[in-house]
Amino acid sequence: MDRRRFLKGLGIGTAGVVGVAAPAGAYTVGQQRGASTIVGDYAQSVNAGQRRGAVTVWWSVDTDSKVLALTFDDGPTSQFTASVLRVLGQYHVPASFFLIGELVQRRPDDVRRMLDEGHEVANHTFDHYSATRQSPAETLSTIERGADVIAAISGTRPRWFRPVRGHVTGALVDAATEVGHDIAMWSVSRDPGIGTAADDVDGVRTNYIEGIHDGGIVIFHDGIGRSAFEFSGPDELLLTQRRAELAALPDVIERYLADGYEFLGISDLIDRHAPNH
Ligand SMILES: [Zn+2]
Repeated sequence: MDRRRFLKGLGIGTAGVVGVAAPAGAYTVGQQRGASTIVGDYAQSVNAGQRRGAVTVWWSVDTDSKVLALTFDDGPTSQFTASVLRVLGQYHVPASFFLIGELVQRRPDDVRRMLDEGHEVANHTFDHYSATRQSPAETLSTIERGADVIAAISGTRPRWFRPVRGHVTGALVDAATEVGHDIAMWSVSRDPGIGTAADDVDGVRTNYIEGIHDGGIVIFHDGIGRSAFEFSGPDELLLTQRRAELAALPDVIERYLADGYEFLGISDLIDRHAPNH
């Protein structure tokens, strides 16, 4: 399926990929481009309807229960993963880690620790290139390799996949399905498209706290994309953004707990609170 047909399947019509003012539940390319606001009452799922049957892309779950899933992308890294695990352990809350395969190979002990401590691990590709920059064959390959390096540690391919930068293409949906994944996006982030500065810890904290909703999927990062392993070295802007997210993390968790939210792994969130999927 090509991208336009995929977007049509999501109810977007023939609009372009970037800059779409997406209706509730529709495709988003990720908030960093300001394409849409994804905080709020998104439909719990969207059927992409492709050749192997319907695929559900999850932004959040439509529920009246005070539940959420905390998720972390781009790890494991030396800079952030250990401190994230420490904070999660301190509050006794589970999370789901969307891992970059290249980094899984370098830091398998971090992945073992995630599993040992009750967290869910998931696939965020092997090489962290956007599917919009890859051929369908490359997209399949990077998803497959990402799943397999995790399986080499955990024993099974992970259930969940998250697209790099939230870029969803028809080839990506095909590939993720072929590898056996469900696809998870997010509904709550550091910046719901309002231009929060990279180092604005107060602003980031407020965005997470004000953005939360029942059934929300919250995105944090314990890594810095490809710059964690590229020769050119760490991306300073990403490092600043990530530091701000993680500086806000303890307060955000405390607030969610004080508001009565139950923290669930991504599979438990879907399986327990989206009975019709
Ligand atoms: Zn990422």
